[in-house]
Amino acid sequence: MIEILTPAELSRARETGALLADILQALKSRSTVGTNLLDLDEWAQTMITEAGAKSCYVDYAPSFGRGPFGHYICTSVNDAVLHGLPHNYALADGDLLTLDLAITKGGIAADSAISFIVGASKPPESVAMISATERALTAGIAAAGPGARIGDISYAIGSVLREAGYPINTEFGGHGIGSTMHQDPHVANTGRAGRGYTLRPGLLLALEPWVMADTAALITDADGWTLRSATGSRTAHSEHTIAITDDGAEILTLPKPADRDRAVTAGGVHTGSPTNYS
Ligand code: MG
Ligand code: MG
Repeated sequence: MIEILTPAELSRARETGALLADILQALKSRSTVGTNLLDLDEWAQTMITEAGAKSCYVDYAPSFGRGPFGHYICTSVNDAVLHGLPHNYALADGDLLTLDLAITKGGIAADSAISFIVGASKPPESVAMISATERALTAGIAAAGPGARIGDISYAIGSVLREAGYPINTEFGGHGIGSTMHQDPHVANTGRAGRGYTLRPGLLLALEPWVMADTAALITDADGWTLRSATGSRTAHSEHTIAITDDGAEILTLPKPADRDRAVTAGGVHTGSPTNYS
């Protein structure tokens, strides 16, 4: 089913998206060397609950997972790329961490993911990989608007990823979103321009380019959820929820300018105590 939101619903979607962006930036600031993934999950739970929202992941139980997920946020480290199950792991300098979160509030969901490097080390291949997914996301958003086709977005995303030299997996991609987290239409991370569903004002989409350095093949971790690069190579993932408007596309999960500035200099902003769960 493809949902078209009313203006009132779109206004609630903006609120959900802004809240989600705030939570992700707060968690990014807390993702310092020594932070345990289980603490990030607990902090996510606290922030989501205190804001009167719900995580879409807790009861998520699709056919490919050992559901329900049972945690509040996906934490994927290094070769893990999608559905990273929070577990007892303390972040190390140079780790490439992806935080992927979907929440619902006021009956409307939003979904966003950010990849970044923990600590002071900045491995060049990780920096390049994150940049490629962010540029692909920007290109996908630029291709979206009333009258454009889903294939235009897929083509724009795929062109950037391919040009950057990354194989593209088509098993998992972007999706419609609205009263629930995952809806039609599917938005593959590569495709043919001019094909597919024609975008209309009121449609919400989650666009999410992700890559693995040297393979398009995934393997499932023994935890039954975490999807990893089949070769053990590093991975990155960037996602925003956007709304198709009369004029183009509006990003609903964009961090506030102040948060973006803080994120650039983050690393020292740690407001919680790391915990060991051994
Ligand atoms: Mg997501
Ligand atoms: Mg998504």
